[in-house]
Amino acid sequence: MSPGFLLRDFVVCLACLSRSGVHLPAMNFSAQHQADRTKVFKQSASRIYDSLLAVLYPMRCACCGGNVECRADLPACDGCWKQTWLFGVGDLMCWKCGAPAPGGTVARRAVPVDERVRCGRCDDEAWTVARSVGAYDGALKAAVLSLKREPYTGGRLIEAMAVWGRIAPLNEATRVMGVPLHPTRKRERGFNQAAILAARLATSLALPFDDASLVRTKYAQQQRAGMDAQARLETTAGAFTVSRPRLIKGERILLVDDVWTTGATAAACARALCEAEAADVFVLTIARAGVHSDV
Ligand SMILES: [Zn+2]
Ligand SMILES: [Zn+2]
Repeated sequence: MSPGFLLRDFVVCLACLSRSGVHLPAMNFSAQHQADRTKVFKQSASRIYDSLLAVLYPMRCACCGGNVECRADLPACDGCWKQTWLFGVGDLMCWKCGAPAPGGTVARRAVPVDERVRCGRCDDEAWTVARSVGAYDGALKAAVLSLKREPYTGGRLIEAMAVWGRIAPLNEATRVMGVPLHPTRKRERGFNQAAILAARLATSLALPFDDASLVRTKYAQQQRAGMDAQARLETTAGAFTVSRPRLIKGERILLVDDVWTTGATAAACARALCEAEAADVFVLTIARAGVHSDV
């Protein structure tokens, strides 16, 4: 790696920090509260560390192959993130299942998601609401695929999920859990990508992370990517059980998964959680498959 390359990337990195609103700790000495200063210092140190790592170990964007300037953006570059369709609070969508209205961003409104807006297809589902960060495309698709290979994703994705976690009714959640993998599948992969997302989201939302109460008891031989809707239903029906019902009763569960395809997995998890008398199941995924923007 040439010194010129390092210098160029360091300049890019500082520009990136500036865009992120990062200030060096020395600039915050006038803050009123020590706790705020400590928090700002930790955030700044973390972002500087991330950006320096991006300089020392340049990463390629999983979408366009370009340089990823901020490690928090992984697995995609800033440009690809900006081109990805992220759902917004003002988008016209079904209040319950989060399905965006045809027309995508054309239908964008200036008011929050309205409880009276319903698609009519999800009324009987056991979960309370389902939300996704955006469409299964671009940076979000890259994040889903990357998380199947390695147990890491950048802070930008986690923050995008946390935005939805802070909006009603998801902001009433009392505990966060990931859709569990069967123990055999987890051994094969080495990690559960949904649990990794859920753990980081729980930290961001200052909620307890529960990795043990919901378990998957049915092992699917077939790769889920090749399944149609009926096969997904049959594979997930009765696949989950609650191992600690006393910890679930009355809880409002924020259930995290990587991608929403037919909703069969969320439905099976929600049925098990509701049988254990969970008060609510809020489903939050990285991306929703099968939606396309018309713009
Ligand atoms: Zn890119
Ligand atoms: Zn709906």
